Amino acid sequence: MLSLVRRLSRWARGIGAPPSVPDALWLTTLAHYPFLPQAYEPENARLRLLAAHFLDQKEFTGAHGLVVTDAMALAIAAQACLPLLRLGPPNRPEAALAWYDDFVGIVIQPDEVMARREVMDEAGVVHHYEEVITGEAMDHGPVMLSWPAVQEAGNTDGLGLSVVIHEFIHKMDMKGGEADGCPPLPPGFMGTHSARSARAAWFSVLEPAFLALRDQVSLAERFGQPMPWLDAYGATSIEEFFPVACEAYFVQRARFTEEWPALTRLFDALFHPREQLA
Ligand SMILES: [Zn+2]
Repeated sequence: MLSLVRRLSRWARGIGAPPSVPDALWLTTLAHYPFLPQAYEPENARLRLLAAHFLDQKEFTGAHGLVVTDAMALAIAAQACLPLLRLGPPNRPEAALAWYDDFVGIVIQPDEVMARREVMDEAGVVHHYEEVITGEAMDHGPVMLSWPAVQEAGNTDGLGLSVVIHEFIHKMDMKGGEADGCPPLPPGFMGTHSARSARAAWFSVLEPAFLALRDQVSLAERFGQPMPWLDAYGATSIEEFFPVACEAYFVQRARFTEEWPALTRLFDALFHPREQLA
């Protein structure tokens, strides 16, 4: 039997049936990632369709001899497509997937990766250091994901974490140019009348939330107060706060809504446009 990825690329060349994901594989994926719309939910079929097209468009590579199975590719595809679930016309998955059309390659690492970094300080001195990373999204380039981190999503004691969602939110952010914490916003976003006022509306909610998390993290680090529930990594910069908050919004929506109601409304305006029309 042909592997799923190969069957999908045969379809792209006009051979065989349109993309679909086999039942057993889909159900196994849903069981592993309970934050995905489950089999009885109406949005399940749309996610499955998006994931099938995603698999058709992207190329998966295993680093260091890692063999990428259909189940691994689907686990990534399903999580990557979750933010697109309600975007674009329901029967045209390609339109929603245009958010991710600046690249095709997804590299899966068998483990975490040590990345070499450099920063320039205020005196102009460049410092080199190494950082452990579980994923990375390059502008107009591939997405790198560590497989153990991909598997952990949704399975971390109620923490709303998903490295896949994180990296693909960076991709959405970069769709409008350099990552700055604000993706391209739809016309009329939150009742605004121009791209500029939409952006201002976005940051008027995102920025105070980012500063609040930064304060919470610094109180925890300096005065021993409890660490906030939202991943402290989001306090490093506003362009990291956006994907970190989105992870929690998609993976642990109930808790996220309780803790961050204004952010929930902001993200709903971006990710749930059809509900707004209803
Ligand atoms: Zn990031």
